[in-house]
Amino acid sequence: MVVTRFAPSPTGHLHIGGLRTALFNYLYARGRGGKCYLRIEDTDLARNSQEATEAILQAFAWMGLGFDGEILYQSQRLELYQSYVQQLLEAHKAYYCYTSKEELEALRETQRAKGETPRYDRRYRDFTGTSPQGVKPVVRLKAPLQGEIAFKDGIKGVVVVQAKELDDFIIARADGTPTYNFVVSIDDALMGISDIIRGDDHLSNTPKQILIYQALGFKLPNFYHVPMILNEQGRKLSKRDGAMGVMDYKALGYLKEALLNFLARLGWSYGDQEIFSLEELLRLFDAKDLNSAPSCFSPHKLDWLNAHYLKATSNAQLEILLQDFELPPAFDRLNTLQKDMLLGALKERCTTLKSLSTGVHEVLNPPVSYDPIKNPQAKPLLEAFAQILKDAPLESLENIQTLLHTFLDTHALKPGAFMPALRVALLGKKGGIDLKQALFVLGDQALERLQTFLARA
Ligand code: GLU
Repeated sequence: MVVTRFAPSPTGHLHIGGLRTALFNYLYARGRGGKCYLRIEDTDLARNSQEATEAILQAFAWMGLGFDGEILYQSQRLELYQSYVQQLLEAHKAYYCYTSKEELEALRETQRAKGETPRYDRRYRDFTGTSPQGVKPVVRLKAPLQGEIAFKDGIKGVVVVQAKELDDFIIARADGTPTYNFVVSIDDALMGISDIIRGDDHLSNTPKQILIYQALGFKLPNFYHVPMILNEQGRKLSKRDGAMGVMDYKALGYLKEALLNFLARLGWSYGDQEIFSLEELLRLFDAKDLNSAPSCFSPHKLDWLNAHYLKATSNAQLEILLQDFELPPAFDRLNTLQKDMLLGALKERCTTLKSLSTGVHEVLNPPVSYDPIKNPQAKPLLEAFAQILKDAPLESLENIQTLLHTFLDTHALKPGAFMPALRVALLGKKGGIDLKQALFVLGDQALERLQTFLARA
């Protein structure tokens, strides 16, 4: 069975890079009837916070990505990790090292002076003497002295590291707390993780983790180190490019379907298909198809996808989603047909829920200023049209269409000679949704707006 995990460190918000990693792990396992677990890597008490954990969980709740079983918190497993440190000590695969900070620094200085890479010299590896007093020891793993550590990465290919490049690294600090690579390896092994998909910033940790697996006799998982996401200039994503928290995208009005689709395609492809539902992704995603080249974050593409998913969202659902965005009170006074007309018209032209809500405001809030109207005939024509509106209920698009045609015919006008002025009088400005639709949505308000405009013009 495929078992994967997502293992965020709760140091801040869940970023889109993290969500992408989570998504790949989720798709790979769930698409194969396997399991995907969530593990919170919260052992670094100085850097982690409960709020950050909550923020991560909130982002997953929004995404609707559920994980299997209970959430595992590393901070609750310290004793378990310590028992494995003990096991390695007893098996002489690890040892206490009493080298003080000062001694280590002196050692590094000497090595640097000789032009060597600073590295612990293993002085306590086979130590049998009396341990120095007053020094709390760290525990180091006995790394192999020669040979190489090689593994096949599903994305990078065969990765080989010479044993001499690794020292006897620390697995437990002087205060007894286990180190990062140690706990990750223990957890991955005990959780039965078969496939690890993570950012390639962890590639250099992998040889160390493999040594821990080997020392404890654990079976190695498959590794997939995913290249990072770059901006359109080929540089590391910064906040300006969109290295934002997942929930920031929600606040900007992106739909979770669009974000998931977008992230799935960052580093993975299936022919030239761009639109994928979650069901399709579950069916089609395979870790072996992950790209070995970095992917490029295109805000334009995210907007394009969001516009696609907005169009596909029912008006009833849109109304629910728009609750997170402030709508004018006038929206609640619209009848169902008017709401449908307004949302239907706006979702065809907007890219985000936020711009859609702005569109609702633009139609339903009476204009506070007006674009200039150049047509000298506009005022008498608008007065004449206002007279007609007094007796004409704006009941349907057909009825509005007829009304406008008759008016244009009666006054022998081309649409361009009247409609722009009518639009400005009703909505304050030139662009926007179709005028007939706007009239339908405004209903009785249309006449009031015309009168207000004429009273000031
Ligand atoms: N906690 C690590 C991070 O947030 C991930 C560790 C891993 O996936 O092995 O980058």
